[in-house]
Amino acid sequence: MTMSNTDDYLRINELKNYLYCPRISYYGLCLRLDRETHLSSGGIRAEASTKEKMKRRKGALHAIHAGEREFDVLVVHEGLRLIGRLDEVVRTAEGVYLVDYKDTDKDYGYWGVQMMAYRLGMEASGEQVLGSSIYSIPKQSYTEVKPTSRQRQQLEEAVQALAQMVAMERCPAATDHCGKCQSCQYARFCNDVF
Ligand code: SF4
Repeated sequence: MTMSNTDDYLRINELKNYLYCPRISYYGLCLRLDRETHLSSGGIRAEASTKEKMKRRKGALHAIHAGEREFDVLVVHEGLRLIGRLDEVVRTAEGVYLVDYKDTDKDYGYWGVQMMAYRLGMEASGEQVLGSSIYSIPKQSYTEVKPTSRQRQQLEEAVQALAQMVAMERCPAATDHCGKCQSCQYARFCNDVF
């Protein structure tokens, strides 16, 4: 498969936006608004600098599982039309461990779904996935993310809803959690929430 065949695939990172508030995905995917805040650009910088540090770090997950490390690994799932880059894969003789870096220690309900997407993509390319973890940059610690059937269901529902939203160009309802709107980079577009 060439990369051009995946142009219309959903970025696995988009699941984070969608599960935080579907409207953020609408603004990005349908209106092509891509707003960067101090917070998000700070997060991008933190992740970039962490990747460099993690490459040099001795006591990382590969020390526990004694494997070879690969960074920024391309993950594609043709059936679900998903594509993404996973921060780290630890390859052992028995299979692979997946690691994604986060600039927060708060799981807003998307870690498991996102890791499920990476897991299914790796499995679809023939890999045996032995485990998956989130590395929290502020805490400098790993949290194991165990796969569940609920995460898989959430993933499939999100992929379907996002595809429908893009096809219909229909703006979803605002989030029920108005606290999220206080720090949202799209707040001034959502006249109905304040
Ligand atoms: S302001 Fe609130 S409803 Fe609008 S996109 Fe942001 S989180 Fe969603």
